Parts: sequence; C-alpha cells; structure tokens
Amino acid sequence: MEGARRLEAPGDLDQFQSFADDAVAALRRHVEGSRSARDRATGFAPMGEVLARLEVDRWLAEGGMDRAGFRRFLDGYLDHAVRLHHPRYIAHQVSTPDLLSGIDGLVNGVVGNPMAIFEMGPSGAALEWAIVNWMLRKVGWPEQRVGALGGCAGGVLTHGGSLANLTALLAARARVAPDAWEGGAPDDLVVLVAPNAHYSVARSVAILGLGARAVRHLPADRFGVVDAKRLPEAVAAVRAEGKRVMAVVANACGTATGLHDPLRPIGAFCRAEGLWLHADACHGASALLSKRYRPLLDGLALADSIVWDAHKMLQVHPICAAVLLRDGEDFARAFHQDASYLALGAGDERYDSLPRAVECTKSALGLRLFLNLAVRGEAALARHVESRYDLARRCHALIEARPGFSCPFVLETNIVCFRYGTDDALQAAIRDQLMVEGRFHITAAVLGGARYLRLTVSNPLTDEATIMALLDAIEATARALAASTSR
Ligand SMILES: *Cc1c(COP(=O)(O)O)cnc(C)c1O
Repeated sequence: MEGARRLEAPGDLDQFQSFADDAVAALRRHVEGSRSARDRATGFAPMGEVLARLEVDRWLAEGGMDRAGFRRFLDGYLDHAVRLHHPRYIAHQVSTPDLLSGIDGLVNGVVGNPMAIFEMGPSGAALEWAIVNWMLRKVGWPEQRVGALGGCAGGVLTHGGSLANLTALLAARARVAPDAWEGGAPDDLVVLVAPNAHYSVARSVAILGLGARAVRHLPADRFGVVDAKRLPEAVAAVRAEGKRVMAVVANACGTATGLHDPLRPIGAFCRAEGLWLHADACHGASALLSKRYRPLLDGLALADSIVWDAHKMLQVHPICAAVLLRDGEDFARAFHQDASYLALGAGDERYDSLPRAVECTKSALGLRLFLNLAVRGEAALARHVESRYDLARRCHALIEARPGFSCPFVLETNIVCFRYGTDDALQAAIRDQLMVEGRFHITAAVLGGARYLRLTVSNPLTDEATIMALLDAIEATARALAASTSR
C-alpha cells in the first residue's frame, strides 16, 4: 500500500512522462508560432499581468498543479517568454537555441548532477573538459593535461561571461599581488579598461576590493575602440602616480557596438611590459570558427585570459560561458587552491571544476554545446556565424541607402547600430512603441553621446526582408508619434 501511494506522489514516472509530452507539444507550438511569425515578436507585458495570467499567487498558496493546470500554466509561461525563435527578435546578443541542444535542459534537469568534482558528474565533467580543450584549440593554446593545472593552458565553464570576467581578473590580481588573497587588495592597483567594456568588468574590479575608482579608461576613439598607439602613455601615467597596472582589458568585441579593439598591438605591448591582458571576447570569440572573420580576433592568443560566451553566437541556450587562461596554473594562484586537494586528482583521469571556478555546485554546461557540435557539426556553426555577420553587412548597406536613416560606423559583427533622424528621444520612443505592439523586438544604446537603435541579427530566419519591414515600421512609427504630439 505504502509503495503504491508513493508511486502516485508528484514526481512519479508516468506523471513525468505526461508532463514532458505536454511540454514538448507546447514547445513545438511556441517554436512554430515564432518561426512562422504568426505570433507576436515579444512576450512583453507588464509584470502584474504576467503574474496574474500565470496564477502565480494561487499556485504558490495552494500547490496541487495537475496536468491540466500545468498545460494552462505552460501556455502562459511561453506566451510571455522572449521569442528567440521569432525572425523579428533582433535585440540582445543571445543565440536562437538549436532545438536539439535544448534537450540538454531536460536531461541535466532530471539527472541533476552538481558537477563541482568529477565524481559528482563524470559524464558532465568529461564533456566540460573536452569542450574547454576544443575552445583552447580554437584560440591556438596548448590543451589541458589530465591531473595538472600548470604547463598548459586551462579553462572552466562558468555561469555567464560576467562571472568569467571576475574569475579572469581574480587571476590577474593574483599575478600582481599574490598576497591579496590573505592580506586584502593593495591600494596601488589600477585596471586599464577599454571604455566600451561590459559593466561586469567594473563590477569585478569593485568586487575584488580595488574600488571602482581603480578602473581607468584606455585612450580610445569616439566609439570606444582602443587606440593602441597611446597605450604606453596610459601606462606611464599610472606609473607616474606611483601605482601599478593590474591588468589591461580589451574587447573582442564591445557589447554595444560590436567593434573590436586591436588585440595584436595591445597584446604585443602587454607581453613586452609583462602586463596581464584580459580579452573579453564573450561575443566575438565564436568568429574563431570562421576563416573569413577570424582576422577580427588577430592577436587574441597574446592575451593572458580570454572569456567566451558560446550562448551568444553558437546557437546554445544560456548559459555556456568559458574563462580560458594561457597558463592553467594561474587558476591555482587565483583561488589559492590547497595543493593537497589537487594531489588527490593527480594522475587520475579526471577533471574537477572546483579548483578553477567561483561556483561549487555548477550545471553541466558542456552538454548543450557538445550536442550542437556533435549533431550539426562545427562547420555548420561556422557557417551560422558567417551568415549572421554577412547579413549584418547587407543590413548596414540597406540602412545607409535609405533616406532619413544613418549608421554611426562601419560594423564588424552581427551587431547593427543606426538611427532614424537625429533626435535621441525619438529613437527611444520608436523602440518602446515597437516593443509594446509586439511587432519587433530590438534594443537601443547610447554611443558617442547619442542614442541609436541597435540590432543583433542572430536568428537564422531573420533576412533582408525582415530588416526592410523593420525600416518601414520605424518610419511609420515615427510618423504616428509626430502626429500624436502635434495633435
Ligand atoms: C555579453 C557580454 C558579457 C556578459 O556576459 P553574460 O554571459 O551575459 O554574463 C561580458 N562582456 C561582453 C563583451 C559581452 O558581450
């Protein structure tokens, strides 16, 4: 009797199967509705509306969600999800996940391996090891060796590029100030940062105890691209103040603009001066797969640390981020990892993420990218990156050719910045209006003191016709906004 009742409890296998069947069917409708552009391009709604639709208060108070309740809930949940599969989703830098790589969410969700040490997830850990080595090969660094951190490059998958930046800068701090772990951060450290850097870089500096004022901007052009020729003068200015440069942080590419800093001259200077170069290649590193676009990353291997978000361009769902260090031993120095712990694994055929990562329990992040590489193949992912970079170039030409529209610079990636007219407030109003109507999901950014509309063309279904329709919608929206204010 006891056993029979337990089988009826939530979590039994039949219930799992029926919920999973319903979830797959609902996901199929969601993806079809998005791909065909039959559904709205955004799941945007005010939060109160979302909470009410999902009956969140009721479920939290009463529980007892049955199959019908789950179906209703999931329909609402997907309705208010962001539509990455929709060709008119052209906003932030996330991939449209390949459906098969998404199955990792189901598999890992059910097996639930915590993955900090090899024995708590041998398959997930082994895949992470292999994926990190795959990334190191793409960069051109020597692969990791089993049972040792040093004498080779090293890497770990982390929960996002922001945490990867923190990890890399922690390693940089350990190089310059090995005592900081025990004694706290010294007060003479400065981090020279590309002005375009992602906000997580400044946060990391503050978290590391240097104080946000330790961030100094590198000399750069109007759009934040570092001027490598003026790097020596920036370093000399820091030294003249009696301070030390902890790290130089360059972008490949800048988040807002998609523009790359010149890594080769920056890297050559840093190597000559013994300065730690951190290359934030969250978005851009995936172009390493493409022969044609790889030159954008020329000099990347001169860096001491690199971060790479596979979820930005390689059609995997968030998160799949990596921090890669040219000298794997720097992980041990960064975390002051007890050597006796490492000795446990020495000689063993195993990979532990714990000595390399901020996280203890960690998702098995390698499977989603592994599935994409295994099912679609590296060449298909390379073609995807190229096709999106190519499309962005054609969009740039379309936009420039159209009266009233302009682009601030010649783009380098799949990130497209442009504006309609010259009024900053108009750009924001246009974007908000398109978003509320659910016709297009795009973003905006402030660059060189002016506001621009901003697209990231990641979706494989987005094409030139989508962009022409967007430009039409922008013109019509601007006309409607002008009419409503003059009334
Ligand atoms: C996206 C991005 C980040 C942040 O990565 P998350 O995975 O969102 O934490 C950091 N740096 C750059 C250059 C980025 O483009």
